[in-house]
Amino acid sequence: MNFPSEPFKIKVVEPIRRTTGHERDRLLRDAGYNLFQVPADSVSIDLLTDSGTSAMSDRQWAGMMLGDESYAGSKNYYHLEETVRSIFGYKHVIPTHQGRMAENLLFSTIIEPGMCVPNNIHFDTTRANVEHQHAEALDLVIKEAYDPHCDFPFKGNMDLDRLEATIHRVGRKRIPLVMITITNNSGGGQPVSMENIRQTRALLNRYRIPLFFDACRFAENCFFIKEREPGYANIPMLTIARELFSHGDGCTMSAKKDGLVNIGGFLSLNDDLWAQEITNMLILVEGFSTYGGLAGRDLEAMARGLEEVLEEDYLRFRIGQVRYLGELLDQSGVPILKPIGGHAVYLNAKDFLPHIPQSEFPGQALAVALYRDYGIRGVEIGTLMFGKKDQTTGETLHPELEMVRLAIPRRVYTNMQITYVAESIIELYRKRELIHGLALTYEAPILRHFTARFIELHEPSLLHPMTA
Ligand SMILES: *Cc1c(COP(=O)(O)O)cnc(C)c1O
Repeated sequence: MNFPSEPFKIKVVEPIRRTTGHERDRLLRDAGYNLFQVPADSVSIDLLTDSGTSAMSDRQWAGMMLGDESYAGSKNYYHLEETVRSIFGYKHVIPTHQGRMAENLLFSTIIEPGMCVPNNIHFDTTRANVEHQHAEALDLVIKEAYDPHCDFPFKGNMDLDRLEATIHRVGRKRIPLVMITITNNSGGGQPVSMENIRQTRALLNRYRIPLFFDACRFAENCFFIKEREPGYANIPMLTIARELFSHGDGCTMSAKKDGLVNIGGFLSLNDDLWAQEITNMLILVEGFSTYGGLAGRDLEAMARGLEEVLEEDYLRFRIGQVRYLGELLDQSGVPILKPIGGHAVYLNAKDFLPHIPQSEFPGQALAVALYRDYGIRGVEIGTLMFGKKDQTTGETLHPELEMVRLAIPRRVYTNMQITYVAESIIELYRKRELIHGLALTYEAPILRHFTARFIELHEPSLLHPMTA
């Protein structure tokens, strides 16, 4: 079946507070048209992120009650260690409270100033953690990744020619490791093929450079391999995951994604010396090596989440639900980024709102309209997030892609709620010429999207207030 129904029943529910269009209009004005400043209980369907927003299973909640809160040697740590080893296959398992701490520990240990870390595309925190060590974070994804209309099945693949050219240019001694992000979050949640991983490994073997994975959405990537890559259709998910990680030397992980938990992460690797140094630093900044800044119950929920995330029924539903939203939109002519990624659907705001120039933040204007009219919260990934001022001319440089990301939390919304999202966006698309641009009134010097404030360039028309 193309769009499988939910492979779970709902046992606990969280009511959604109903808001009116007038209330949301007022909240938007108060928030300076910044959706990060809107209280979450005023959002009907929250698609801001898939990070830490998963619903845990009854089995995970039961595991929370089995939390062993011993300072050292908690049994939940041993369960996590065993689970991570059985999937990822690396020797050392170092828990952290989230993914960025795993990155920070890894890079602060192995990078020296002036080094360079290639990746398909660095996620923001990964890039920031590399640059924080005065090293260069290079994105070497294949060029198809930057074409929103190209439907190549593995748009997260590493460009091997550019990788080899980079090794020649900077020298292998200045590359402590190469990373591959699966799926490629910043490139639209696009997968990397096993073939590409195998070839990257072979290339790096010639130069004796380690390969690490940014494994946040590894299960989703493995499902795409099963679906799309010849030879994998009948291979169990766990076998695919093991093969994938066997090509690497370690990984960083935010369990807030494919760990199916609300908080947690880890670093796993084979190198004894690196592991020792990282563990020493972990004890300084996070906690002892058998809890790493988490409670025992969190470790247990994470171990159980990692087991559940590879269940094929779950993944078929998960990837199917995201695809369902994307296809409903696509069939109605709403411009989206293709192919549809693993964790989110991206609206192409340039094509959605061709009458709004990039200097007037079409992505943000679209996200604002979607919230005001329908109570749905997405996130702008465009001029607001990535626009840069040219240091010499003072002119704003606009990014190539102008998007609104609709990230789908795992096991949280039903297909009926997803249908509501699709119908709302289709209706908004039909009246798109009523949407106006925005002008910035405040921006912080870094990461401006979290706190920026705007005004609307024309008196806002309340397009379609939701009836109370
Ligand atoms: C979320 C994410 C991270 C960072 O993880 P946190 O748990 O948010 O610190 C790193 N890489 C990728 C690809 C991510 O999606």
